[in-house]
Amino acid sequence: MKAKFEEPREGQWITIDQASLKIRVPNNPVIGYIEGDGVGPDIWAASRPVFDAVVEKAYSGDRKIFWWEIPAGEQSFREFGSHFPEESFDAIRRSVIVIKGPLTTPVGGGFRSLNVTLRQKLDLYACVRPVKYISGTPSPMIRPEDVDMVVFRENTEDVYAGIEWKSGSEDALKIINFLETEMGVKIPVEAGIGVKPMSPKATKRLVRMAMRFALDDKRKRVTLVHKGNIMKYTEGAFRDWGYELVRCEFGDVAIFEDELATEHHGAIPEGKILVNDRIADAMFQQALLRPKEYDVLAMPNLNGDYMSDALAAQVGGLGMAPGANIGDTCAVFEATHGSAPKYTGLNKVNPGSMLLSGAMMFRRMDWHEAAELLEDSLAKTIRLRIVTYDLARLMNDSTEVSCSGFGQAIVDQLKNA
Ligand code: NAD
Repeated sequence: MKAKFEEPREGQWITIDQASLKIRVPNNPVIGYIEGDGVGPDIWAASRPVFDAVVEKAYSGDRKIFWWEIPAGEQSFREFGSHFPEESFDAIRRSVIVIKGPLTTPVGGGFRSLNVTLRQKLDLYACVRPVKYISGTPSPMIRPEDVDMVVFRENTEDVYAGIEWKSGSEDALKIINFLETEMGVKIPVEAGIGVKPMSPKATKRLVRMAMRFALDDKRKRVTLVHKGNIMKYTEGAFRDWGYELVRCEFGDVAIFEDELATEHHGAIPEGKILVNDRIADAMFQQALLRPKEYDVLAMPNLNGDYMSDALAAQVGGLGMAPGANIGDTCAVFEATHGSAPKYTGLNKVNPGSMLLSGAMMFRRMDWHEAAELLEDSLAKTIRLRIVTYDLARLMNDSTEVSCSGFGQAIVDQLKNA
């Protein structure tokens, strides 16, 4: 078993300005990566040469990434005796920006889920999932190109925070008894119990991040999505705290739905952002029927989880869905699918999710030229109908390539860019 954690030998650290929370990226940054479990090493091996090639092409050698491997998951357990050594958390903090493959949740291990632990320990409070159609990708929609949304999902609270007691356990009975005697609430004694905490602090920082993104990315709408008609003091409060934050901190740019018709003749004025809200179930219908009317969605954890995957399906599924978990001090970009253990080592699955997460990462670094080059070359490859098995089986006349073959096809496209 290895005892020593390898430090990077070359490159410079990315830093954060503590006042503005803006990151400063040198031309030769150290970026941490976690290969992940199962198909993780395959998608990483396919993606890394693409990342290096787009940076080389976009900046003609003036910029270069120095990759730093951060141990996590099954390989880390074999080498260091832990699925997530404390040094790995430190390394992520130090890197500021990290890209990762999927991690298998160890069965019977000390972790509920490595991914949830990572989000909680590093306070990565927003799960950000852009959903945009890439022309040529098979989709169940008639007009998938109408979908261009970014979901900001709260990552630390709600029923996903894991505050639960098992049916019949001593603790569950204690809570049931307390609720009955102190609060007058009757619950079946055999019920399992889950608690759904939602706070102004966590809601406001999420909505702030969504609003800042909308401003930077020149988006026109931010929608607070909630189930406040039923859960008034959690989901309903999410909506109220969201509006409160917008009025307090973004009053100069925000306009609201009631003003839209009365003061702006139904059109959002230049430089303004329409802030509105939708009940979650209605939002699922809107995403299918009127996707053009939505832009940035700010959502609590559980509804945001459903919505992110449902939207991903509208544009071609999870194999192509990028994502990131972002906090004030670091950001972890990741393939959004799991470790797909049955495909381990087969060099078969689609690396698209990790590749597009890399494009998100470049945007975060303000390396927009690299992000655009990557997205364009990936889109061209799909338009040439060069795809991995998951898309090939849904397309006529495609050329099926391996995971690494797809990465190589993108690098080939770069030569013509
Ligand atoms: P999964 O996403 O790993 O796989 C489900 C199926 O989706 C696969 O069998 C495959 O058919 C398909 N698939 C997944 N990724 C694909 C790709 N890139 N290209 C083509 N097809 C792809 O889901 P699962 O089987 O439920 O989870 C396996 C493990 O992954 C579990 O231990 C789970 O906890 C973990 N997981 C990790 C993350 C993460 O690290 N962010 C996310 C989800 C699940």
